[in-house]
Amino acid sequence: MQLNEEDKKKILDWINTKCGAMRCMCCGHGNWQLQENASIFLIIDVHTTRFFYHSGTPAVSLICAHCGHLVFFSTFVMGFKPDAPPLMTTADAPSSSESVSVTKS
Ligand SMILES: [Zn+2]
Repeated sequence: MQLNEEDKKKILDWINTKCGAMRCMCCGHGNWQLQENASIFLIIDVHTTRFFYHSGTPAVSLICAHCGHLVFFSTFVMGFKPDAPPLMTTADAPSSSESVSVTKS
């Protein structure tokens, strides 16, 4: 999900309130870039290798502009919930040679 300007302001205000002048643990610089999209950490069943992306953990990420170190923050803790990813339909499914779980609503 792409973050709009209101989302970005809420997220940066939250991070500034909780973390203050956050420094990169790798290089010590403090110039961070908020990424344009929220992320979801997928849950993968290790036995079937199926993705449960609707049960994943939404997060936003910052990248250190100096060294590229990446940090994630849970949007649940922030009180911010990005839109759920769209449900796939059979029309969206890749060809049968690819292994993907298809869910209908
Ligand atoms: Zn860094």
